[in-house]
Amino acid sequence: MQLSEIKSFSKPLIANLAKLAVHHVQDLLLHLPLRYIDETRIVPIRDLRLGESVQVQGEIMYAEVTYKPRKALVAQLADEAGQQLTLRFLHFYPSQINALKVGNQLRAYGEVRHGYFGYEMVHPQCKAAGKDAAVSEQLTPVYSTTAGLTQPSVRKAIKTAMQMDALTETLPPFVYETQRFPSFSDSIQSLHYPQPDADLTALENRLTPEWRRLAYDELLAQQLSMRKHYAKRRSISASEIAPSQTLVKQLLQDLPFVLTQAQQKVSAEISQDLTQAHPMQRLLQGDVGSGKTIVACLAALQAIEQGWQVALMAPTEILAEQHYKKFEMWLAPMNIHIAWLTGSQNKKTREAAQQDIASGKVQLAVGTHALFQDAVSFKKLGLAIIDEQHRFGVQQRLALRQKGAPEPHQLMMTATPIPRTLSMSYYADLDVSVIDELPPGRSPVVTKLVSDQRREEILQRVREACQSGSQAYWVCPLIEESEVLQLQTATEIFENLQQNFSDLSVGLVHGRMKSAEKQAVMQAFVAGGIQLLVATTVIEVGVDVPNASLMVIEHAERMGLSQLHQLRGRVGRGTAKSTCILMYQNKLTEMARARLKVIYENTDGFAISQADLNLRGPGEFLGTRQSGVPMLKIADLTRDEDLLQRAKSVADGLLKDYPEAVDQHLQRWMRQGVDLVKV
Ligand code: ADP
Ligand code: MG
Repeated sequence: MQLSEIKSFSKPLIANLAKLAVHHVQDLLLHLPLRYIDETRIVPIRDLRLGESVQVQGEIMYAEVTYKPRKALVAQLADEAGQQLTLRFLHFYPSQINALKVGNQLRAYGEVRHGYFGYEMVHPQCKAAGKDAAVSEQLTPVYSTTAGLTQPSVRKAIKTAMQMDALTETLPPFVYETQRFPSFSDSIQSLHYPQPDADLTALENRLTPEWRRLAYDELLAQQLSMRKHYAKRRSISASEIAPSQTLVKQLLQDLPFVLTQAQQKVSAEISQDLTQAHPMQRLLQGDVGSGKTIVACLAALQAIEQGWQVALMAPTEILAEQHYKKFEMWLAPMNIHIAWLTGSQNKKTREAAQQDIASGKVQLAVGTHALFQDAVSFKKLGLAIIDEQHRFGVQQRLALRQKGAPEPHQLMMTATPIPRTLSMSYYADLDVSVIDELPPGRSPVVTKLVSDQRREEILQRVREACQSGSQAYWVCPLIEESEVLQLQTATEIFENLQQNFSDLSVGLVHGRMKSAEKQAVMQAFVAGGIQLLVATTVIEVGVDVPNASLMVIEHAERMGLSQLHQLRGRVGRGTAKSTCILMYQNKLTEMARARLKVIYENTDGFAISQADLNLRGPGEFLGTRQSGVPMLKIADLTRDEDLLQRAKSVADGLLKDYPEAVDQHLQRWMRQGVDLVKV
């Protein structure tokens, strides 16, 4: 039932709840407490412990508005034993001054802190109550609210919803059997209205059987909606593209290396997908340098050999350009026509490329976002490959997919390894291939953490590296707030280093440069003409210059773990021993220190991803995917991993045998999300 159908709910109440994405009785029932407060007991002031949130009772002995050091309402409360506690308010209303009059009996609930004179509570919740007034019988739930929506009004709304008979089970009992879970109804009931003897810590950490039961339900809903979506995509038709007979063999013969086992395995998976009559939706994961590009190229060849066009999209011009060059090197000997398409091309060049794509003359189109613009139409698009897929939004990927009819096969690639629990949950609608092995002969990158106070030593290090014939990157600090400032910083650092290294050739590349300029700089770096390349994080993805063996990253503490891992992956691509120096500014925060430690101790992208997930939660990983997939509210992938396993194991069976129950379950848990999942 929609909340608007409930007579006792006012319009403003409904509007406020809507701001919290609560529209329906089910949403309201699942609007579970953020935490609880314990008003079931009154704690004697002498028993107070620092950091605890508790309720005290007593008489106001003193109250005054003070103006130094700042305006505050300060009161002293004495309990029956005569022990005193300070109550302090930095913002207050006249009504509060009134409530805190000397002689009043009061109950105050708040966190015990250190004050100037012993313990105090800052902004406690106070209510007038006689000495013998009853205490609450239950823990008091605290809900997330929004401006204009008070705790009591949320509580009241939930109470109404509880009476609406909307707590039936949705799924068959066997789903819950091995877990001895409480029923849905009991779980909801006891989370909104916990028993007085409930374990507050377990409740707040969401470890009680009731929380676990609901986490499981939520994970089930996620699995079901993802798998449902997966099944739906399988029912769409696509062209079956037979395995290559000649071109793949030919390329493999011409390559200066042999594929790793892992590359062979994922290539076989992709090749098999292409032969299917439904569109491939495969995510190819492989750490930086694992060799995803050649795998993409082999897939492209299979499509091209059967007369299909292929689109390869990359997030930056530098990367698109590099792919173009590489593919041209590999494919030109086979007389395959490749076009290059980016936003910064001049109109004439772009239109010529578009024409050749439309006529079918171009067999492979490589480019940036420019590839899915309206002006681009393919004659016969059979396969869309998206590199660094997390850089693109759902809509952008969708737009590229719509360039083919029937729908093209889709291969997405990412160098940000997705931790296992994430690929089991948020990515359960995709097929995943993993390249879990690096090509032979790579020497691991040595990582050093160096305070920026030792800049001189670092400069010396760079000089030595360049003088010995190797090349280096200098990565400028990330300034997310302002592109102008980012550019300014990069330019300053560049000028500074240029002065410092007057004997070396120093180059600069940043995101705001014209594409031709960028290309010129990158080419000079590849060719060895530039020895030290000062760069913003534009070089984070994909750039491949094997002779570069030293990287300095300024203000490494500002960057995300995956980003650092990507950056570091730009060196160690040749056989020379490589070093990555992470410069940090002193006084690291706890979090920054923890992050740098992870990157220092690990070279394996999966381990780093897992640590990143633990530190920051799934939001960062999902990036643009977030917009398409409802986020979990109750379940936690790490804490509830066992439940995720179980949910995964029952989902397909449920979809097959209990489709109606599944729909009911999704109605309850994913009312806004069911149709949203479109990736
Ligand atoms: P990424 O997975 O990060 O995109 P690339 O595809 O750019 O990695 O490959 C990194 C480098 O390794 C490239 O220079 C590529 O030619 C090389 N490479 C790829 N596969 C192999 C292999 N099996 N043996 C040796 N070198 C390889
Ligand atoms: Mg790559």
